[in-house]
Amino acid sequence: MTTISFRTEELLVGGEWRTAAGGAMLPVEDPSTGETFAAIARGSAADVDAAVGAAHAAREGDWGRLAAFERGRLLAALGRAVLAAAEELAALEVRDVGKPLTQARADVTALARYLEFYAGAADKLHGETIPFLAGYTVYTLREPHGVTGHIIPWNYPMQIVGRSVGAALAAGNAVVIKPAEEASLTTLAFARLAAAAGFPAGAINVVPGLGEEAGAALAAHPGVQHVSFTGSVEVGVAVQAAAARHVAPVTLELGGKSPQLVFDDADLETALPVLVRAGLQNAGQTCSASSRLLVQRGAYARVVEALAARYRALRAGPAQLDLDLGPVISATQRQRIVALTEAGLRDGVPVIARGQVVADAPVGGHYVAPLLLGPLDPGHALAQQEVFGPVQVVLPFDDEDQAVALANGTRFGLVAGVWTRDAGRQQRLAQRLRAGQVFLNDYGAAGGVELPFGGVGWSGHGREKGMEALYGFTTVKTVAARHR
Ligand code: NAD
Repeated sequence: MTTISFRTEELLVGGEWRTAAGGAMLPVEDPSTGETFAAIARGSAADVDAAVGAAHAAREGDWGRLAAFERGRLLAALGRAVLAAAEELAALEVRDVGKPLTQARADVTALARYLEFYAGAADKLHGETIPFLAGYTVYTLREPHGVTGHIIPWNYPMQIVGRSVGAALAAGNAVVIKPAEEASLTTLAFARLAAAAGFPAGAINVVPGLGEEAGAALAAHPGVQHVSFTGSVEVGVAVQAAAARHVAPVTLELGGKSPQLVFDDADLETALPVLVRAGLQNAGQTCSASSRLLVQRGAYARVVEALAARYRALRAGPAQLDLDLGPVISATQRQRIVALTEAGLRDGVPVIARGQVVADAPVGGHYVAPLLLGPLDPGHALAQQEVFGPVQVVLPFDDEDQAVALANGTRFGLVAGVWTRDAGRQQRLAQRLRAGQVFLNDYGAAGGVELPFGGVGWSGHGREKGMEALYGFTTVKTVAARHR
């Protein structure tokens, strides 16, 4: 087994590990216990500036000179290093983010898959020749933006680093990563592995710190030529505005209120476990969580009864116990979830069923018992706002038109799932649903590294995952040559 040896309180600039300018640090909390167990660097605008400078130097130097297949080779080596260190990375994530071990292991596997995918794609990304006027040869060059900034949330640090940084590097960009202040450890470990795998100094820089300090400085830095942001709508809007001041393109992966539509003819045996899992994975702290279940009237009573039985069997507890749910990330996040759901209960939204928090869960941990609610007014906050916790709502519908109106009836549009045996309806709904991904008789497709992912409306814009991400991390230059 690899041993990733690193001091958590250092950041990485131009191949050099050092403390933040001024030596500032932030505590690292274990969400399962509430105890502080480490510290990370509190990067400042000065650290971000140094990191952006180092990234530009790498683009001009060793990193920029590599052939596409050589970048692919490095990504492949990094993928192997991640797999060799899988248990260590998973253990770090269990402690830092409170993920049950099975989920943490799945995140490591996904990180490795992104690296493998983009390793293979690096030398298959090319321009085109374009038929044009007689006497011309016209072609396009697909070029990296240059230096890309990556602002990462705490909910899936490894997966989101994999999908955004993996694609950006494959395309030839040098990157500056700002991990979330609540969850920086696996990103720092990832950067250690990358250096050992042979990435030149400055190709990957990591500046942990607060969003309003290091994150804001990265989004606003005029040397950053593309910003990839995953997180809340509010911060995404601020990041886009900051990047607009130096006219940098932005990819925004924001939240959702993603529905699954269950028709009377659905294969319920297949659907039921997915309906619950897609809402509660990672304690519901998933941008693509299916937090709304829309069920046709004829199946409603049966589906609700079966969901309730599943909910009553669910248990939340310390991440190390690897139960159905771990804690949520922080006391703040827990209070937000509790406030939103209690407001709903006061408004009379009925509780269908509740899971449990295990009796011996540490009192300082941030546990929330999973909660199934409904039916409720489709305009209610719990049917419209992202809770980002283990809460799902159920709403009945009568026919296809009403199902579509409900499904499309929020400002978000990230993912939708449709459960029906009717082939015509499947295709009609694939076209009518407003979402970046539509799953027919499934939801999420096991993460789908190869499948373009992103939102419409308030869920964001731009696509990550699959080949689409590579297009987003490049720009097209047209070359038109006139000759005789
Ligand atoms: P957040 O928006 O507060 O933070 C995300 C990242 O942005 C963190 O790294 C944070 O430090 C940074 N940040 C905070 N303020 C900033 C600022 N002013 N300028 C620049 N960067 C700043 O979100 P969160 O609390 O980490 O995550 C929860 C939210 O993110 C949820 O709403 C969820 O839906 C969304 N999310 C979406 C996706 C997706 O892929 N669509 C994935 C994960 C999370």
